Amino acid sequence: MKKKHKNRRKMTARRTAHLYRRYVRPAVPVRLPDVPEQADMLPIEVYDSELAYMFKDMAKHPDIETGWFGFGNVTEDGTPRLLLVDGPGPKANHQPAFFQQDIDYMKEAWKKVSPLGMHHILVGHSHHKMHLPRPSGKDVDSMFTSLDELNLEYLILVIGTIEGTSMCLYPYLFKNDHTYCRMEWRRIAGTSPVRKMMEKWETK
Ligand SMILES: [Zn+2]
Repeated sequence: MKKKHKNRRKMTARRTAHLYRRYVRPAVPVRLPDVPEQADMLPIEVYDSELAYMFKDMAKHPDIETGWFGFGNVTEDGTPRLLLVDGPGPKANHQPAFFQQDIDYMKEAWKKVSPLGMHHILVGHSHHKMHLPRPSGKDVDSMFTSLDELNLEYLILVIGTIEGTSMCLYPYLFKNDHTYCRMEWRRIAGTSPVRKMMEKWETK
């Protein structure tokens, strides 16, 4: 069993390095979080294009925090599926240890994608200077407040870090019963169909 995990970790690192070279370019190796300490982590499906979007944006902001929001739906077995990541938006507040979303930009993006039957399922930001691969106490409070205010069943928070020479993205599931847990990326190769569609719209 242990060996299996080790191989899986190696494979993930290799595949992610390929993803990073393909989408991001600068010579910084990148990896997804190591295979978990927790045994049964809930999965979140994600297209490689959307992981690449967040990696690329972190690479653009190496010294200040940056952030994103994401839309998606749920698979037949109840797994959240991330279809489009956007942000940070021109009015986002980037500080060395603080990030605030550009709410107007987020609302506009939401207007564009809601006719496609997608839900707002995710927010995320980087923790460059804190080197903290998990939500801060303040993040936890604000996630529970958002869940209550927006009357959502759940919302996923992604925390990005740059550790040494690699970048990581850690997903966490926050629920309206005010509990949260780590999730595991379940990757889908290629570009999200929603991103392809949006790009087509924009070039028209
Ligand atoms: Zn934070």
